[in-house]
Amino acid sequence: MPLIKCEHVSIGYEGQTVVKDLNFIIEKGDYLCIVGENGSGKSTLVKSLLGLKNVEEGRITFGDGLRQSEIGYLPQQNDTQKDFPASVYEVVLSGRLNSRGFSPFYTAEDKRAAKEKMELLGIQDLERQCFRDLSGGQKQRALLARALCATKSLLLLDEPVTGLDPIMTGEFYQLIRKINRESGIAVVMVSHDIESAVEDATHILHLQETALFFGTTEDYRKSRIGRKFLGGVHDGNDL
Ligand code: ADP
Repeated sequence: MPLIKCEHVSIGYEGQTVVKDLNFIIEKGDYLCIVGENGSGKSTLVKSLLGLKNVEEGRITFGDGLRQSEIGYLPQQNDTQKDFPASVYEVVLSGRLNSRGFSPFYTAEDKRAAKEKMELLGIQDLERQCFRDLSGGQKQRALLARALCATKSLLLLDEPVTGLDPIMTGEFYQLIRKINRESGIAVVMVSHDIESAVEDATHILHLQETALFFGTTEDYRKSRIGRKFLGGVHDGNDL
């Protein structure tokens, strides 16, 4: 049983379909990159994976111990929560709220998890600092720790390196690789950075309303669409 199975999924806004007849699966430990042009439906799909938007047709099912409320989500950079007036520790700890409603009380286990994830990401020394005073790279680490607090099996990252400089970007990808390989946590990453995507991901979903391609990264490199897209990136020209 896969962690997530999308079968014939269509999603739209006010009668206009933006994702159509989409089929793909995510298995335990997979690293899936979702690529595609602006407006191809990536964010819409993310909303439906999180349960924030209903599908019009088809279905999304969760298995292998994953519940929809237990997806560790790292939202896009421009979200207002970046200026949240809370400490790093509080931001990380709030990842635990996801899976059990809005109870304001944290258990000892929640607190232990928050400390553990901060250590894993090397931000334990920042725990008392105000989140909004952190650098871009530190903020992303804190939000990643928060997402890890919310899940045991799947991270969903929406354009996570937007706004980071090349060094921080490289470090961030390295962290994700490490988490994926060492903890066996599946990663689903929406990305514009196709070159890094094909280096790290095990699977590619190339979206353009529907799946232009879904399969292993190796097969994507050999596919017509993959060659065209990767070639286009290298040249900076349309083929
Ligand atoms: P991507 O994330 O790949 O850039 P989106 O999922 O944001 O693509 O958008 C897919 C299509 O859905 C676009 O044509 C966009 O204009 C449309 N769309 C996105 N959000 C809304 C909305 N809230 N209401 C109506 N149309 C929307």
